[in-house]
Amino acid sequence: MLAPLTVRDHVRQSRCTIVTVLQKMRERKTFDTSKLSKEDLRLLESFHNRRRRINSFISKNDLKLTTCPGCGFPTFTEDWFHEICGVCNWQNDGQDDPHADEVWGGPNYKLSLTENRLNICRTLEEKSKALNGVAMQDPNEIMDVLKAHQKRMDSFDDDKMMNALRDDPIWEEWTKARKEVLNDLIKR
Ligand SMILES: [Zn+2]
Repeated sequence: MLAPLTVRDHVRQSRCTIVTVLQKMRERKTFDTSKLSKEDLRLLESFHNRRRRINSFISKNDLKLTTCPGCGFPTFTEDWFHEICGVCNWQNDGQDDPHADEVWGGPNYKLSLTENRLNICRTLEEKSKALNGVAMQDPNEIMDVLKAHQKRMDSFDDDKMMNALRDDPIWEEWTKARKEVLNDLIKR
């Protein structure tokens, strides 16, 4: 009988998948933006405004950070290829504004960048309503939230996580902790 796969095995397999997917990137589908509602366009504008504001904060303060093309929050380092965003889960595969409507598959599955942006903006709006607050705007406050979130995620033992099976309770705790940042980004 085969031994169950550890997370380390899954990571090895997904690395091979990423290489295959990058080779197949020419076969791209496109997200149909002709049916976007006024509300969708407003949400996309809020994404672009956030990203612009945070990019300007990063350059003014000479921070070694990059905004995520999927949510506009400063979740990536400068050397960010293949990093996964801690806010929206977008994995950087090099896609950005010029190809935002294309579906590249691979680590971001069937999502175009545009749909990912809409999803995270909708989630933030829903959270704002539920928590009776508003999505945080001030880059300083956003930086503090992301730093605290990084600390929370760093408190998980990497070795333990890498060798834990998929159904180990530590993954449930980790997933829960990972989602907390969405609540923290709502100013009450
Ligand atoms: Zn993101």
